[in-house]
Parts: sequence; structure tokens; C-alpha cells
Amino acid sequence: MGKRITEIKDEPSFFHEIYEYGSAENSPSITITAGIHGDEVTGIYVAEKLIEYLDNHELKKGFMKIMPRCNPAAMRRMKRWSSYDETDMNRIFPGDVNGTATMRAAHNVWEETKDAHIIIDLHCCSNSSMAYALAIYDEFPEVENLVKKMNIENLVQSEGAGGQLFTEACRKRGQRAFIIELPSGVRPGAINFDAADICFEGILNLLKQEGVIKGNYVDNPPKSYGKIKDINSTAAGLWLPSVKNGQQIGAGDAVGTVGGSNVYAPESGKVLINVPGSYIFAGDHLLSYVQENSTVCKGEKQ
Ligand SMILES: [Zn+2]
Repeated sequence: MGKRITEIKDEPSFFHEIYEYGSAENSPSITITAGIHGDEVTGIYVAEKLIEYLDNHELKKGFMKIMPRCNPAAMRRMKRWSSYDETDMNRIFPGDVNGTATMRAAHNVWEETKDAHIIIDLHCCSNSSMAYALAIYDEFPEVENLVKKMNIENLVQSEGAGGQLFTEACRKRGQRAFIIELPSGVRPGAINFDAADICFEGILNLLKQEGVIKGNYVDNPPKSYGKIKDINSTAAGLWLPSVKNGQQIGAGDAVGTVGGSNVYAPESGKVLINVPGSYIFAGDHLLSYVQENSTVCKGEKQ
């Protein structure tokens, strides 16, 4: 194992920790990044669990690099982005070595990931979400085949916005890159341990199938779903959901009530994010669902 510290020159400068296992010439080369959004700490925790695992288990083959805190200045204030420039790091890849603090850090992440065959970028989403992998698998079916090596329940089609590490890595460098979105903890800095376990085991399962680490893998691939669809409230009031994450809903099913009136699903799908009972206002998000990908046309941009 080798640990490097790379300085991101700024006033004041800050640092990236980089953990490496095996020889960089080996194949496959797999890089895991976390903390591009500083407050998404369940992802950072999974990256640190992987470092601990790899410190104690020799690689069978390949090369692994882990960058657990890609945006340390943002993590320090437990926010999505750094106060130096209020810039969302996951919209500016490949970054700029002569740019602002976040652009410089993004540039270093882009450089550190340039030789990877596979990039897994760990993020967190709403704390009322299921864990899911997120990929532009309509454009890159090989990424779908890769994600299928994880025993995680859901693969979701990304909107594919540019400037994200995984979209730029797929499109500009032909890498197999995707995100894992994990539900966040109950407060800033808190970890969702159940989701962390799902993600950690899912990544180990992929590494076993790739022959990078020893051990038997399970063949329990995720289902592939289209883009996330939201149900928002048309009125203000008390939202009381009547469905749970992972539940199948049919078109016209009541999914809960707002102010005592039923809210209906416009079409069938599976509940991915279910906002807990809350006082909400017109236009607020209530629930998100996904549909199996029979409607996603592979090879075409959506
Ligand atoms: Zn994120």
C-alpha cells in the first residue's frame, strides 16, 4: 500500500490523500472517489472502509486507487461545495489548474483518474432515498454490464449532465465510470450505516467478479431503470405517505395524502425516494419513482 498527499496550491493550500494498491501498470485499474460533494459523508465512510479492507487483503491482480476526500475544503464546512468559490465540483470537470480552488482540486482529481479503466464515484442524495447506481448506460452499455457485477438493487439512468466526473470520463476518455448514490445520514456529518454496508459489499462483489480480490461473489445484479421521475405536491398541507421505498406502485394508486386528500401515482413504477411525513407546500417534492428500462432506447441519447 502506498499513500500520497497531493497539494492543491491556493491561499491557503489544501491536500488530497491518495491511497494506492498494486502496481499502476496492472490491469484492471480501478479508482474510487468520494467526497466530491463535501457533505456526502456516507460515501467518504465507504471509501475509508475500502482503504481498511485493502490494507489487510492483498490484491489478486490489478491496481486500486482510492481518493476518499476529493473536496476537503467543502467537507470542512459539511457543505456540498467549498466557501472559497461556491462552485459545484461535480459540474466543472475536467477542472482547471489555473482556476479557482475547486477548479484546481477538480483538475487534480481528473489527472489522478486519467489512467483508470473503471471509476466509481461515491455520492449521497436525499436521506429518504434507496441506494442506487447512476450511469449514462444508454450511451455506454458496457457501464451497465459493469454495474451488473454489484449486488445493489437499483441501476438508474442518469440525466447525463456534462461536467460530472463520470459523464466526462465516459465521453472524453472512454472509461467505464458511474456514481453510487447513497442516502445521507440524519444530520450533517452523520453516516447511514445500512446504506454504507450495501455499497461496501456491492463494490467488493464487483472487485471479486473482476478478479481483483479473492472470494466468492454472488450473482445478484441490479435491475436497470430509466430516469428518476418525481411526484410533487399541488397543495400545501401535511404529507403522509402510504407507500415505502422499493414498493411497486400502479398507475392511479394512492401513494399518500396531503391535507387529507389522496395523491395518486400518474403511472406505474417502483418507489425510490419517499419523503417522510412532513408539512409541505405546493410544488414540494413528495416521492420519486423509476420504471424498468423497456422504454430506454439503448445507443440513443435521451
Ligand atoms: Zn454528490
